[in-house]
Order: sequence, then C-alpha cells, then structure tokens
Amino acid sequence: MDKKVRVRFAPSPTGGLHLGGMRTVLYNYLFAKKQGGDFILRIEDTDQSRYVAGAEEYIFNCLKWAGVEPTESSVHGGNYGPYRQSERKELYRKYAEQLVKNGHAYYAFDTPEDLEKMRHDFKTDQNPSPQYDGSVRMKMKNSVSLPADETKKLLSEGARHVIRIKMPEHETVSFTDIIRGDVSFDTSTIDDKVLLKADGMPTYHLAVVVDDHLMKISHAFRGDDHLMKISHAFRGEEWLPSAPVHILLWKYLFGLDEMPQWAHLPLILGPNGKLSKRDGAKYGFPVFSMNWTDAKTNELTEGFKEKGFLPEAFINLLALLGWNDGTEQEIFTKEELIEKFSIERVHSGGAKFDYEKAKWFNHEWIKKSSVDSLQSTVKNILIEKDITGINEDVLRKVIELVKDRCTLLTDFYDQSYFFFKSPEKWDVDAVKPKWNEAKQLFFAEVIRNYELNNDWKAITLENSFKEIAAANQIKPGEVLLPLRIMLVGGKFGPGVFDIAEIIGKEETISRIKKALIAFA
Ligand code: GLU
Repeated sequence: MDKKVRVRFAPSPTGGLHLGGMRTVLYNYLFAKKQGGDFILRIEDTDQSRYVAGAEEYIFNCLKWAGVEPTESSVHGGNYGPYRQSERKELYRKYAEQLVKNGHAYYAFDTPEDLEKMRHDFKTDQNPSPQYDGSVRMKMKNSVSLPADETKKLLSEGARHVIRIKMPEHETVSFTDIIRGDVSFDTSTIDDKVLLKADGMPTYHLAVVVDDHLMKISHAFRGDDHLMKISHAFRGEEWLPSAPVHILLWKYLFGLDEMPQWAHLPLILGPNGKLSKRDGAKYGFPVFSMNWTDAKTNELTEGFKEKGFLPEAFINLLALLGWNDGTEQEIFTKEELIEKFSIERVHSGGAKFDYEKAKWFNHEWIKKSSVDSLQSTVKNILIEKDITGINEDVLRKVIELVKDRCTLLTDFYDQSYFFFKSPEKWDVDAVKPKWNEAKQLFFAEVIRNYELNNDWKAITLENSFKEIAAANQIKPGEVLLPLRIMLVGGKFGPGVFDIAEIIGKEETISRIKKALIAFA
C-alpha cells in the first residue's frame, strides 16, 4: 500500500477564493511538502445550482500565483481522477444504496409541497424551523414510514426520491480534532441530511466521504504490530457542524479506523467578527487572492496580487494567521515554512487579519527581494501606467534605489515614474515664495559646472553643488528643495543626487533649465 501522506483541498467553485480558503490551501500544501506527500485539489461541484462559471479556473490561477499548486487535480492529472465530482456522479449511488441496505439511510419520496407542509405543521414556539429528523421521520413519505411493498412499488414506478441518512437517536458522536481537541455532538440535534439527490447527484456530505476514501486521503495499513494511519483532512471551521454526519458515514461505509484525522482551521476575523468580502470593500483592503469579478453583478473584488502584494509575502502573512513556530520569527520563506510548519501549532482561536501588518510583511519582502526578481513585475507596473521606452539598466538602478521605500508593488510607480518621464508640472508654490535672483544665478552656475562634469556620480554632483552654494553664501538647504522639485516635480523621491546620477547628465541639465523658466 502507498504509505504517502495525501491531503486535499476541496473547494466548491462558487466564487472568489478568499483569505480563509487560501490559508486552507497553504496549510495543506505545507503539510504535504513537509511529509514528502501529495497535495490533491478536488473540485466539489455537486451543487450545480451554486456553480459559478470561471470560478474553477480562477482557483487554479490563484494557487499558481501564490506558488502553492497541487500535485494532483483536474488540471495536473493523477491516478485517482476524475478530480471533479460532477464527473464522478455514477460512482456515488452504490454507496448510498449500501447505506439503505444496512439500515443507515432510506429512500424519501416527499415532494417539495410535502416538505413545506412539514415545516408549517410542526412549527412551534420552541421549534420555529422544524427539520426532517427522527421526530418527524415516521410522519413523512419514506421507506422507513411506508410498508416495504409500497416502497418497492414506488421505486419500480420510478417515483422521484432522494436518499437520506437515518440519524441515530441520542447517540454521541465524538472525535479528536488536531486543533480543537475532543469534540462531541448529540445526533438528536442533527437532521436526516440528503445524501443522494433526486437527479442522482450526491450531496456534499456523501461525496466528500466517498472521495476522501477513494482518493486515499485516508488510508490505514498494518505496521509490524499495530494499525498505522496516514490520513489528515484540513478544512475551515465552518465545516465543524457537518463533521458528525461525515463521521457516521465513515463508520457505516469504511470503518472508523479508516477515517482521516480532522483539523478544523479557525476563522479569520476582520474588524467586526468573521472576515467577509464586504469588509474588504468597506475598509479598503483585499480579501481575495486575485481580482474576482462576479459575472452576475459585474462587481469587482480586489485581490492581493493586483493590490501589489508579492506572492512570497502573501503566503508568509497567511501562514502566520493562526500559526507561529514558537519563536519571535515572522519572516519565513516558503522553504522555511515547509520545514517548520506543524498543524498541531495552529491556534484554535480565530486569527485576526490586520491589513497594516499585512502591508508590513509585503514591505519586508520587497526590501528582501533581489532586483532580478522584481525587475519584470516592476516593468509591467510601469508599462501599465503608460511609461514607455524603459531602459533595463536604468530600471535596475531605480529598483535598487527605491525598493526600501515601497510597501506595495504598485508604489514602485509613485516612487519612480520621474526617472522615466520629465516633470511637466512643478510644485511651484513650494519654491516661489523664497525664489530670488541669487538662486537663479546659483542654478545657472550649477548648470555650467554640471556641463563640464566628467564623473557623473551622485557624490561628485553633491560636492560641486555644495561648493557652489558655499561660494555664493547660500545654505545648501535652501537650494536642495528647488533642485528636487526641478528634477521630479514635487517634494518626494529618493536622494536628489541619486536621481540626477540615474537620469544622467543631459536629462538633469535639461530638467533644471526647463524648471528655471517656470520658476522665473
Ligand atoms: N467543498 C467544501 C468547501 O467548499 C469542502 C469542505 C471539506 O474540505 O471537507 O469548502
């Protein structure tokens, strides 16, 4: 038997991939890589009414961008396909039938009107929304309440039906979650969930268990003298209430020895409780990995990628939303995360998302990144903003000079466009009130000096500038701001002589001359 760890991310293609989903991906990925195992991506599209076109491709794009791609999937292939549940439809009925045969499930023939009536008739103050459960089962139209021959007849006539799990009465279902410890549920509080729908499609509950089994997410094997289990399934905390249904299905179909060890990951919290897509729009930060446009409403939800995050920073900040390695270290490369990650160290409490901290991670990663690794991304950002004729050598020098000042990749534009474009407007108001003839003459002398300069280096330019100032009894501080405004247009940018060095002699002199006319 294959003794490899196999973990899975099982998204439903219903929309954009938010931070929580992406963190589930990341923890699966890190765990698999650390154990030398496989990471499987399974598309859970059994609820066709919630299917959103483009969502599947979008998920793969996000994983690719973040550098956490699966080893097996509908795109990457593998030995356990198909990896899309809608393509596995035929496979599930046999398991549902097996459950009926063993008395753990039943056929239910109720029409939507019957169900509506049940919800109406059994509604009380104590039970405002009655469920299809042990208390009403015998009053409904199903193979438990009907005589056997009646059920047989209905089935042979092809009557529309679903298959429902028969939730046991007053049984305690318990399991040990890797993150939250011992968890138990009273089965009486859970309804008889539909396992197989009238169109023959399984529901999520049946499909997730059958597929985790068939795709060997969970596998037990006999070691020398004891049963060994290699099996883990990580998913968001929102699936915890479904866990008892899945546990019973594991017990009835494949045996509890085979069941994976569950880890339900804590919620990611926003400024007010659970982080939501709406928080993003409200507070102006991304919650999705990449831009997502809702096909129905045309509403665009901004992604971390487009906002200007580096994938390295994104996975770093995501890993630390609910996990740390027990030290003060915060900046981790992907390789370090693989080495250090352990699912046991994931906290059980919700992890608060702090956008300022997220930006800090990105800033640290931009500072840490090499010019080589930033070059093409920054070039694209500049091109998108209509900067043309970018010289690669200049670009490299610019990146080196300004990267420490950029928090988001998009900041590279604001920090550097003036290297590629001479200013057309100047912050004249910042210069004019203190502008005088002495300064005009001073700059004329600077131009003459710079025209003769044969060693176009920031330090020489600065020295000559200061010498001329001293000779004219002008404090350098009084002419440095005008020089900056001449070269970049405003009160911003890195060291002004560094700018002059990079834009070169001709361009520097031409910018000073042009600005002198505007200031006069
Ligand atoms: N299809 C579920 C989802 O959309 C997956 C839950 C699980 O991993 O078991 O999140």
